Amino acid sequence: MSASRLSLRNKASKILANLKQQYPHAKCSLHFKNPFQLLIATILSAQCTDQRVNRVTETLFRKYSTPQAFAGADLKQLEQDIRSTGFYKNKARSIQSCSRELVDSHAGKVPPVLEEMIKLRGVGRKTANVVLGVAFGKDAVVVDTHVGRLSSRLGLTSEKDPVKIEFELMEIFPKKDWTRIAHLFIDHGRAVCKAPTPKCEICKLTTLCDYYRTHMRVHRGGIPPPRRGYPVAVPARGFMPRAGGGEAERSRPLTHLKNRKEDSFEARC
Ligand code: SF4
Repeated sequence: MSASRLSLRNKASKILANLKQQYPHAKCSLHFKNPFQLLIATILSAQCTDQRVNRVTETLFRKYSTPQAFAGADLKQLEQDIRSTGFYKNKARSIQSCSRELVDSHAGKVPPVLEEMIKLRGVGRKTANVVLGVAFGKDAVVVDTHVGRLSSRLGLTSEKDPVKIEFELMEIFPKKDWTRIAHLFIDHGRAVCKAPTPKCEICKLTTLCDYYRTHMRVHRGGIPPPRRGYPVAVPARGFMPRAGGGEAERSRPLTHLKNRKEDSFEARC
């Protein structure tokens, strides 16, 4: 194993231990009673909060309790039933087509295999990995917007494509923790490492974070005043000002930070 891979693994292990301590109860916040319900809830969660999805599915799963019920539903009515989750026309079509495929080809059961699941309409790797990891208890890395953003900021990957990030995270985290990584990253992403502006000033990962090291400027004479869209932070323990950070460094324009694309991960089903 290369030295850089080894040091990434060490770093990943420290991040994991830190996050486990901070979020000991991290878990999937979608409500479900079986893999099929989780599949539907995850499709609905694209571009929507889990809380809203839970409110919608509470009624939805009482009305349509099986794949057969979704398969035979009136599409216009189904659209209205899920309307508040956004993109309801596409989501309704995906849910109905996916339910019909399950009924026709899988005896109404969600197949516990990634390759089979991603053949279903509206089901991408993210959704399939959520169902595999959470409902079937398999080892699966979910890369959503939070996981992509944190992996990038922490310096665990330089990739932007969620599938490539998934494979990189599988390389550096132990298999038994693959499913948990997403829950931990999502909780930290929601509470602290927010998009577009992370709350570095209250973060406990500063000593392990590339974004913090790169963007946090410490000048002779103290911390510069906060700028719009710029992380406000205190220096990490042991963090030293960069050599040569004089007046020229202070006056360097920050326009290159304004249009950062790091948070542009598409929320994909
Ligand atoms: S230090 Fe800042 S950028 Fe790094 S993980 Fe914490 S909040 Fe995110």
